Amino acid sequence: TKHFPVRKRGREMLTRGRRAVRAVDDVDLTLRRGRVTALVGESGSGKSTVARLLAQLHPRTGGEIRLHGEPVTVKGGKAFRAYCRRVQMIFQDPFASLNPVHTVRYHLTRALKIHGRAGSTAQDQEQALHELLTRVQLTPPEGFVDKFPHELSGGQRQRVAIARALGADPEALLADEPVSMLDVSIRLGVLNLLRDLKERLHLAILYITHDIASARYFADETLVMYAGRMVEGGDSETVTQQPAHPYTRLLIESAPDPDRLAPDAESAAPAEKGSGEPPSLIAPPSGCRFHPRCPVAMARCRIELPPRFEVADRPGHWAACWLYDAAVTS
Ligand code: SF4
Ligand code: MG
Repeated sequence: TKHFPVRKRGREMLTRGRRAVRAVDDVDLTLRRGRVTALVGESGSGKSTVARLLAQLHPRTGGEIRLHGEPVTVKGGKAFRAYCRRVQMIFQDPFASLNPVHTVRYHLTRALKIHGRAGSTAQDQEQALHELLTRVQLTPPEGFVDKFPHELSGGQRQRVAIARALGADPEALLADEPVSMLDVSIRLGVLNLLRDLKERLHLAILYITHDIASARYFADETLVMYAGRMVEGGDSETVTQQPAHPYTRLLIESAPDPDRLAPDAESAAPAEKGSGEPPSLIAPPSGCRFHPRCPVAMARCRIELPPRFEVADRPGHWAACWLYDAAVTS
């Protein structure tokens, strides 16, 4: 039996939210600068909970989050504050995340000031604002800086939310469904912007989505969540082209068109197509949580929880599924 190493190390950010809340269990992921990691799953899989835990918006009841190998534990402590600056969140609904009574200038200046980056003179401040807007391709910046959220399109609002996050000079962005509420026609533009920022600013990005087709397009690495657990992971090309876990296969079969960004709503994702509904996280099924819906379930699947197995001959590709238990198959 070959176990995938559960814990990754390095100078990169390590996050570990084991038994963090009841909704999420045995979650283990590492974000690296210059890399997009997609966390894919249907509604209720726990993927947003993971983002909120990493953003410290949920109190953790266990587990560990590390930044550059250092545990981030004490709320309000120095390490905690540094973490909150370095790890910024982008939400699904840019309208809800911006205050409607304030202009773009207010939102961005506030972010810069909180993080001590506003500059000392009015001129410095204006320049910092313009740089942020230019970075998210809202140009000329003079045309946007005094606008209110309702005067902007959804895509422009999301760009302002991204600019605000960049105001902290972060190392990592946690983006929870950042394009799913936007028009299909502008989704690609926002994802391309994030990719561009990843490269130019050497950011780590966690991209949370229900849309595995977009993960293939946008992410370097893809992790799949089901019922609060991670069930498959590897580089995006491999996971989306040669999925190993029966749940990932179901996700891909249900995606409307693998070469396009899926236009459907989160709730319309694969549950209807596969047999059965995603299980309750309060009382998840025994053994493999996917077994009630799995077309190839075996007797042991109902009883034993599968650990992560490396998929044969594919280094870095793993699946938490008994089909890959080398002790049985070889
Ligand atoms: Fe299906 Fe069993 Fe694999 Fe779970 S462990 S996905 S039930 S084959
Ligand atoms: Mg969600």
